[in-house]
Parts: sequence; C-alpha cells; structure tokens
Amino acid sequence: MESSLKKLVEISNYYGSDPEYVIAGGGNTSFKNEKHLWIKASGTSMATITESGFVKMDRSALQKISEKTYSEDPLKRESEIKLELHNCIVEDTGLRPSVETSLHNLINSAFVVHTHPTWVNALMCAKNSSEETAKLFGTEALVIEYTDPGYILFKLVEKKITEYVSEFGKDPVIIFLENHGVFVSADTIEEIKSIYRDIDKKIKSKIDFAVPSINPIGSNLTELTESLANSKGLKAKAFNCDLIQHFVKDEDTFKLVGIAFSPDNIVYCKAHYLFSGSDSAKLLQDYESFEKKHGYYPKVIGIKKLGLICLEENEKSLNTVYEVFLDMMKISYATKSFGGPRFMTARQIEFIDNWEVENYRRKIAKT
Ligand SMILES: [Zn+2]
Repeated sequence: MESSLKKLVEISNYYGSDPEYVIAGGGNTSFKNEKHLWIKASGTSMATITESGFVKMDRSALQKISEKTYSEDPLKRESEIKLELHNCIVEDTGLRPSVETSLHNLINSAFVVHTHPTWVNALMCAKNSSEETAKLFGTEALVIEYTDPGYILFKLVEKKITEYVSEFGKDPVIIFLENHGVFVSADTIEEIKSIYRDIDKKIKSKIDFAVPSINPIGSNLTELTESLANSKGLKAKAFNCDLIQHFVKDEDTFKLVGIAFSPDNIVYCKAHYLFSGSDSAKLLQDYESFEKKHGYYPKVIGIKKLGLICLEENEKSLNTVYEVFLDMMKISYATKSFGGPRFMTARQIEFIDNWEVENYRRKIAKT
C-alpha cells in the first residue's frame, strides 16, 4: 500500500509539473484497492502534492451515491452530493475530496490520472472532435460529449462505461471529455505514461503546422498597464510573444480566444475576455462596459497589435491567469486541424459561474 501511494504521488507530480498537462489546481489522480480509494483533494496542486494531499475514501459508500436519487435543482443537488462525498471519507483531515471522486471509483484499474492536456484539448475543444477522435482512436477510447461537471457528468460517464463494457468486454483505458480533458487508467504508472505518450503522438500527427512561439518579447505596454493597475486597484502585467501577436492582430482573430473552452478556463480566467486598443480613455470605457455586461472585470485584455494585459488581485493568481490563457491560445490555434474552436455555450458557462464547488477551488488557488 505504502509503495502504491508513493507511485501515486510520483505520477501526480510528473504530470502536475508539466503545464502542457495541468495548470494550477486542475486535474486529479487516484489509486484504489478493493476497499479504499485515495483521491487528490480539491484545489491542491498535482505538481507539489504529497501523500497527505490525498483523501482516503470508502469505496462501497461511494458506490451508494450512484444508487440514490438527488434533487432536480442543480445547486441543491451538488450540495447534497458534497455532503454525501464528505460522508465517504475514511480519515477526515479537513480536506475536501475532488468533485470527480465518484467518476474515479467507476473505473476498475488501480491508477486513474485525469489531466487537461493542451493537445488533447486541441481535439476536444474543436468543432469536429467526435469524428476526428473516432478516426484517430477507433474503439480504443470512449468520448463523452460535454455536460455539466459533477453529478450529471458522473451519471453520463457511468452509463457510457456500462455500454462500452457490454459491447467490448473490457473497461475503456482512455476516456475523453469534450471541452475538458482526459481520464487515463491502468494498473501501473508505467502503463499510464505509455498510454499518454501514445495519445500525444496520435493527436500531434494531425497537427501539421507549428504553433507560433511563446517566448516573451517586448510589448510597449508598460505605461498603459501601470495606469490601468492604478485606476482599478488591481495587479496588472503586460505579456507579448508571437502567439499573442497572432491573436491580437484584429478583433476577429481575437474572437477565436474570446470565450472559455473548459470549466477550468472559467475557474481561473472567467468566461469572457476584452479586446481594445492602446488609447487609454477608450480602453477604460471598454473596460467599464465589459464589467457592466458580464458582472466582473476582464482578467485578460487583448490590446490591438501590441500584446496582452492580465489583471488579478495578486501576483500568484495573475500568473495563473496568463498561464491558462496561453494554453487557450495554443488550443485555439491547433483546433484548425480539427475544424476550428468550439467554445462553451452561455448555458454551460452559467452553470459553472453559479457552482459553489468551483468557487471553492478558485478561493483555494488564490491562497
Ligand atoms: Zn478536469
């Protein structure tokens, strides 16, 4: 057992420290035996997690969640589930188990590694995701269409796994989630790595162009960034690179990264981003109408032809905003291979915005 938990920590740190797999508190991992399941706590970072960052859960108690019925009201239902999950904890250390715990329990293999890889999402956040995934992976992978995270997603995955098992007589080792990421499962961490390598290779074989460089270049936005930070009482920082230059060249191109692709994008950057010019009076005006329209300030602003300004309450969150948005730009660019970007819809965004669990994760990530 002890050595399995060490392996779990090892594989979590391995993918957690690679921003092309996981950013900030995103992703989660687990190990299970017959009786128990150790799941990453919500909001903790895979990059630095240790054994004490996992929550030990009772598997038969978890199983009961799928047999019960819950409120029809999504917010009420999610809070009922949160309580149920809490009751499945074997050793309470004050940490909250990941909202995807029940989903991990559905899969029979010992290790489950769920991440949001850039290249997987280039496929999963593209208009032709299902056809292209079928072409690349055949029946090797299960593809789950986008649905609200939490209980609804769990029930859908449960149904799809049952159908897959009855058709193919084995568990799916790869479960792709549209506009979200992937679950990979195996009994050893060596197999997990080999499956991930294979996924990476297959998807990259279809991206026959280079994504512009992300190496930082100068921006000429220092003054504008400082005046914005001062007038809004927020931290602000300017960024620039070839990839940013591609997206800020005009408003239409910026629209290709104008809306969130996944729940995690919303958790860290909110769902919408502002495009404006370098005239500071006009920028302030655009900022205020954005705030009025969406009910929050823009965390990401594309400044025409010049670069990107990110805003947040503190330095750590600001850097995460940039890291997540940089990933979104890579994803958007690479979706060209699979029919172009497919954003989250207004209804899907609303669900995440109202979801307490995600607000909890955002709060943890800030400290
Ligand atoms: Zn996820």
